[in-house]
Amino acid sequence: MDYQVLLYYNYTTIEDPEQFAKEHLAFCKSLNLKGRILVAKEGINGTLSGTIEETEKYMAMMHQDERFADTFFKIDPSEGHAFKKMFVRARPELVSLKLEDDIDPHELTGDYLSPKEFKEAILDEDTVVIDARNDYEYDLGHFRGAVRPDIRSFRELPKWIRDHKEEFMEKRVVTYCTGGIRCEKFSGWLVREGFKDVGQLHGGIATYGKDPEVQGELWDGKMYVFDERIAVDINQVDKRIVGKDWFDGTPCERYINCGNPECNRQMLTSVENEEKHLGSCSIECAKHPQNRYIKEHQLSEKEVEEKLAAFFN
Ligand SMILES: [Zn+2]
Repeated sequence: MDYQVLLYYNYTTIEDPEQFAKEHLAFCKSLNLKGRILVAKEGINGTLSGTIEETEKYMAMMHQDERFADTFFKIDPSEGHAFKKMFVRARPELVSLKLEDDIDPHELTGDYLSPKEFKEAILDEDTVVIDARNDYEYDLGHFRGAVRPDIRSFRELPKWIRDHKEEFMEKRVVTYCTGGIRCEKFSGWLVREGFKDVGQLHGGIATYGKDPEVQGELWDGKMYVFDERIAVDINQVDKRIVGKDWFDGTPCERYINCGNPECNRQMLTSVENEEKHLGSCSIECAKHPQNRYIKEHQLSEKEVEEKLAAFFN
């Protein structure tokens, strides 16, 4: 374990994101780092892998820059790089809720809860815990009893909440996401929507899993991460598998993307079921002319036909 994976964000001001992105990419490459960083006028959000020495250098350099001096880095030991390439991209927003009036978390955000306070909130019957992530992230792992919004992208979350408002409106609401960045905006939006008592897990699930006191307790399954590891452990006390195979519902923690490039749905499934279903979430996707699974496995027309015929058996 002589590599590390860093996960961090900072809502701060970056005057010229385009220019910053260029310079920051060169800087990251000079340290042999790999990963993905987004920059916007409203701040920075990144996840990186590299050797311990070079990631330590990166963090030290960031902390010397007054814009990023208070950045909190979540650090995971790793056996090698968790990414293939290094990207730094300028974007209009760090995370998008597709709001007409965007939220500035410095002005409006939910109460920050420590891992211990968050654990108490999970156990409190009068508190609703809402997962602020996507459905496929929830399905691999989540806090016990948390509400699962039926969304495939963060942008869909405000509408989903509005459609289910009466279920939560009168209760205390707490929310969580991977590293905390999505909740900064989402919890601010909840406050603006009129929710009276809104909390967010400070530092996200990643911090909760490392907290020496709570040790990830009440987290079930694994945490979805946006790098080559895909799934990481959180609960150090009592691990349970909650992921279910897309096709047969058996316990499963293995992710694939649907073979239809226009669908790309993330789903949990075994190697056997992937083979049987041509790597696709539905028969429609299996029949797609650009199906990646069929191409990659160089299946003949006859083989494809046989598999399609057996799709629902
Ligand atoms: Zn599909």
